[in-house]
Amino acid sequence: TRRPLVAGNWKMNGDKSLVEKVQSHLAQAELSNMDWVICPPAPYLGLFDAGTKLGVQNVSQFDSGAHTGEVSVSMLKEFGCGYAIVGHSERREDNFESDDVVAQKVAKVLDAGLTPILCVGEPEEVREAGTLFDYIANQLDAVLAEVGIAAFTNIVLAYEPIWAIGTGKTASPEQAQEVHAFIRGHLAKQDSNIAAGTVILYGGSVKGSNAKELFSQADVDGGLIGGASLNPEDFLSICLAAN
Ligand code: 13P
Repeated sequence: TRRPLVAGNWKMNGDKSLVEKVQSHLAQAELSNMDWVICPPAPYLGLFDAGTKLGVQNVSQFDSGAHTGEVSVSMLKEFGCGYAIVGHSERREDNFESDDVVAQKVAKVLDAGLTPILCVGEPEEVREAGTLFDYIANQLDAVLAEVGIAAFTNIVLAYEPIWAIGTGKTASPEQAQEVHAFIRGHLAKQDSNIAAGTVILYGGSVKGSNAKELFSQADVDGGLIGGASLNPEDFLSICLAAN
């Protein structure tokens, strides 16, 4: 049995007052059957209460040293971060992160004892061209080659179709389920027990109003939430849908 997870990816949004608002909203909720995690911009990490589960949106593949602008896994651990989003499509695009760099980051996060939330997902033209499954398989294979299937016990996956991110064009529950089942099947070719235990989140225009239906799909184990995570009421209702 996989425990549902809902992760809020603030991206480059929010402010100090949102830290307070989100914390107070989540603190009052009964969410004993799921986990949630907030991934704010790095400067806000130190402002959260000790009990808040935190993640980051990106981390360096290097340990320390001359890497201007980067943040290391050991710094994140000092701030109580348990999770790191790796390979978000916005970083693959804006920061030219290749499959190889993504794989190195996953390895670094695992070495530090943190949980990577590894993002995969296709652009619209790939779906239209009918090469969706090859595309996702390649993204997974780059990481499998680096860390091996056993590491997937400690990896959370997120399927985020790029055409659904920030567009309001949510994947239908059937579309999400189809790809989630493919991802699980792809891992199962190497180890069916590990595949059966891997948490796979869906991301892309998840809202309070569509979360329940998405999360009710057999292979959808929760969500990676962008825009709606900036609204404490919406984020809470998504968490409740996973609970
Ligand atoms: P939206 O929920 O805003 O579509 O963003 C999804 C996402 O990219 C989360 O990482």
